[in-house]
Order: sequence, then structure tokens, then C-alpha cells
Amino acid sequence: PELFGAARRNARGWDVTDQRDLDAIEAARAPFRTTCFEASPLIAVTVTGATPYKAHNPADPADLVGTVTVCAAEDVEAALAAAKPWTADVALRAQVLNRAADLYEQHFGQFFAILAREAGKSQLDAVGELREAVDFLRYYALQAQGLTAPARGVFACISPWNFPLAIFTGQIAGALAAGNGVLAKPAEQTPLVAYLAAQLLHEAGVPRDVLQLLPGDGATVGAALTSDAQVNGVAFTGSTETALVIRRAMANHLAPGAPLIAETGGLNAMIVDSTALPEQAVRDVLASSFQSAGQRCSALRCLYVQEDIAEEFRAMLFGAMDELRLGDPWALSTDVGPVIDPDAREQISAYVETARTQGRVLHELAAPDAGFFVPPVVVSVSGIKALEREVFGPVLHLATFKAADLDHVIADVNATGYGLTFGLHTRIDSRVQHVVERITAGNTYVNRNQIGAIVGSQPFGGEGLSGTGPKAGGPHYLTRFTQQRAQRATD
Ligand code: NAP
Repeated sequence: PELFGAARRNARGWDVTDQRDLDAIEAARAPFRTTCFEASPLIAVTVTGATPYKAHNPADPADLVGTVTVCAAEDVEAALAAAKPWTADVALRAQVLNRAADLYEQHFGQFFAILAREAGKSQLDAVGELREAVDFLRYYALQAQGLTAPARGVFACISPWNFPLAIFTGQIAGALAAGNGVLAKPAEQTPLVAYLAAQLLHEAGVPRDVLQLLPGDGATVGAALTSDAQVNGVAFTGSTETALVIRRAMANHLAPGAPLIAETGGLNAMIVDSTALPEQAVRDVLASSFQSAGQRCSALRCLYVQEDIAEEFRAMLFGAMDELRLGDPWALSTDVGPVIDPDAREQISAYVETARTQGRVLHELAAPDAGFFVPPVVVSVSGIKALEREVFGPVLHLATFKAADLDHVIADVNATGYGLTFGLHTRIDSRVQHVVERITAGNTYVNRNQIGAIVGSQPFGGEGLSGTGPKAGGPHYLTRFTQQRAQRATD
């Protein structure tokens, strides 16, 4: 009972509309406003390390956030040779993961500071990110008690920069809860937050040869981990293109049965019909498209508004957009922070420029002068077929549809081959049923925004080009990290 309890404790909440919570956040993160953090390999053997480099704040490139030492090739080899499954019994594993969750919560000021300065996370996003990470730790600790199958061995966990704490922790916690060892490669843009998280997992009691942290880039560290026969499975979250590269590497080098758990990109749509409540739909469109500067796999990319209400809806949407506050994510009032780095800004801006020369930019905000900002923008399209790829930033595509064409819209959305999130705003119950039965998306949201997932009650993951499943934060996730076996004795 002490271990698993009658119920799981939810992560501590912070209400960003309550001044008392904001004061507590401000006080806890203030000491880390100018700290130069560090990240380096955490491996079970002596580290060689490559030359350290400096990490800067995407909202203010003059702000030095940390010093990062990435793995040299010998470090990766040494980590692979030292890696071990976690043979401690499940009760101890759960205890350690629960202790790690408590340590994460105790370090909230430090986490919020790094999430803002390294990853450009607004305070609202940083709260969601820390809570999700803590919930993953406690949920998988609890889920582990139901496992009867043994661990597979050692997993490579490869994570993206856009949820550098929640996804990084979720993959690791899943693998560890099931009794595997982990070689974790954080994204090259966000090693500082990963380093603090890995240190806290060690402090909680995860052995150093069971969890090793390997900062470095995908082409060297990631490629080495996914093409070494000592690795028994890969948990990956990132782009669909990288997932395909990893699948090929695994096919060439790993055992045929080694699983790839891949959570990948999306081309997500929302339909707003003429019965929707416009104020609510506008609020949910803004959150879905522009929160986290559109850098969410779940973000709304193509909005379909029914022709009959399109003009009125557009005016309301653009007016509400004008109220968004862009700027330094350290400021508690900021709604939209920077994109992650200069490459992202260049790529997204080039895309918007092309749309501008084609006369398709409908509405756009102004960007702050310094930092890697892309202002939220709405671009006109005929439909989702016009989107060739996921544009990973604050770019909303807007299309209109006639009521009689609803099934064509659904068919076009399904034809993208992606299947991550989908949103619907309507007041007609039979239409909800009609659309939900036909749409191929892992997560469908009705009359609300389409971002965010809740560990344990709203598991997250896509289908088709968007992922392999099982859903993160759901009851089946841990089974993929285990080896299913059957036994039968003579009667
Ligand atoms: P990414 O470029 O695919 O990178 C993801 C991770 O893979 C990084 O750690 C990257 O390393 C590593 N990597 C790159 N090449 C590799 C290789 N050849 N072998 C092994 N690892 C390799 O994705 P991202 O730009 O970080 O993240 C954005 C993407 O993630 C978007 O497409 C988004 O939709 C998707 N995403 C999906 C979900 C979901 O739950 N479905 C959640 C979040 C994000 P480096 O970058 O350090 O080189």
C-alpha cells in the first residue's frame, strides 16, 4: 500500500491566473535568471567528451544559458558496453520513480528557469511540461505493478526539443518502470533540462549503468544507438522522416523483434461548422495554433470554417489574435515565445514569404526585434491538400467549406496519411458522431482546443504517418517495453 497507494497523486498544479502562485513561481526561479547551467554525458565509465559549446536563449541570443559537452564516439561505445537492464524488483523501481517525481516537483524553480531560457517555453507551457513529466513518473510506477512479463533489456530513448522534459522523462520512465536499462539521447537544442532531469533520476536511486545520458546530435549519437545490436528496442519521438531513418537503421543492425515505438509528426485539421459557438471556437483555434509558437505535434495546421459564417469568424479570429502578447517567455504575461533556433526561424519565415508573394497572407502579427521570433500568421488555402508538409511554427492555414461537402473535407484530411489530432466545433450531436466515426486520428477533440494530453486519462499518440502507438500515458504503453511470454505446464 505504501508503494502503489490506493490512487495515484496528481502533479502539483500552479494556477498562472492566481497572483499567489505567480509570486511563488517568480521567487523560485529568480535565482536562476542568469545561471550558466551545464550538461555533459552521464555515463557509467570515464567520459572523454567532445569540445564544450555554449547554449544561448532563443528569445535573447545574448543570454548565455549553459555550457554543453556532447559525447565523443568513444563515449557512446563505452556507454553501450556498460548498459544494463534494471534488475531491481518492481516495488523498488516504483519507489525510485516516485521519489524522482517528488524531486522534480521540489526543483520547480530551476526547471521553469531552464524551460524558459533554453527552450523558449512560456510559463503556461512550462507548468504543463513539468506536470506531465511528474505524472508520467508516477503513472508508470503504478502501472508497473500490473506487469508480469520481463523487460527486454536496454532501450535507446531519443527525444525532441519541443517537450524536452515531459517526453524525455516519459520515454525513460516507461522503459525503466518495465525493468529496462536506458541510453537517453536528448535533442541537441535542449540538453540542459535533460541533464538536470537525469541527475534527479540518479539522485532518486536509478543506478548509473541503468540510466545513461548521451548528449549529442542525431547523426552521430542517435545513429550509433539505433544501429548497435546491444540495443533491444528504441523509443523515439520526433519527425516522421527521422522515424523512417531509424527504422531502416534498426532493420539493418538490430534483432528483427526489437520494437520501435515512434511518436511522429502531424498535419492536423479542425472543422468549425455554422452551429459552433464562435467565441469558444476562436479561443480554441488560437490555443491550438499559436500556443508554444505552434511548435507542438498536436498543433492545428489547417482550419476549415463553414462558408456561411466565414467572414464573421475571420474578423473575430484576427481581432483576438491581435491581443496575443509575443515576447520573452520569462515574462509571466507572454503568450507566444520564440521558435527554437535560427534554422527554424529561417525555414518558417521562408515559407511565409512564399505565401506572401502569392497573396495568401490574411493576417499577421509583428515580431520583436531581437531573438528568434516568428509572428503568428494566418495563410489562406483551398484545403489541407495544399499543405505539402508539417510547418512546425505559428502558421495557421485557413480554408472554407460548404455544408454539403463535409464528407469531402473528412476524406481530404484522412488522405494526408497522418493521423495525430483532429478538432471539431459543432452543436449537432449527430454530426459529432458522423465525423468521429469517419476521421482517422489518434486524438479527436470536440468543442475544445486540440492540444494537450493528460497522463492516465487522455493518453496521446497518432496513427499512420503520425506514430506506431501504443499511446503515451495510457494503459498499454509499458507492455511494449516488455517481452511477452507464455508458459504451460502439463495438466
Ligand atoms: P527530429 O529532427 O526528428 O529529432 C528528434 C530526435 O531524433 C532528436 O533527438 C534528433 O537529434 C534525433 N535524430 C535525428 N536524426 C537521427 C538519426 N539519424 N538517428 C537517430 N536519432 C536521430 O524532430 P524535432 O525537430 O526534434 O521535433 C519536432 C518533430 O517531432 C515534429 O515533427 C513533431 O511533430 C514531432 N513530435 C511528435 C510528437 C508526438 O507525440 N507524436 C511529440 C513531439 C514532437 P538532434 O536533433 O539532436 O540531431
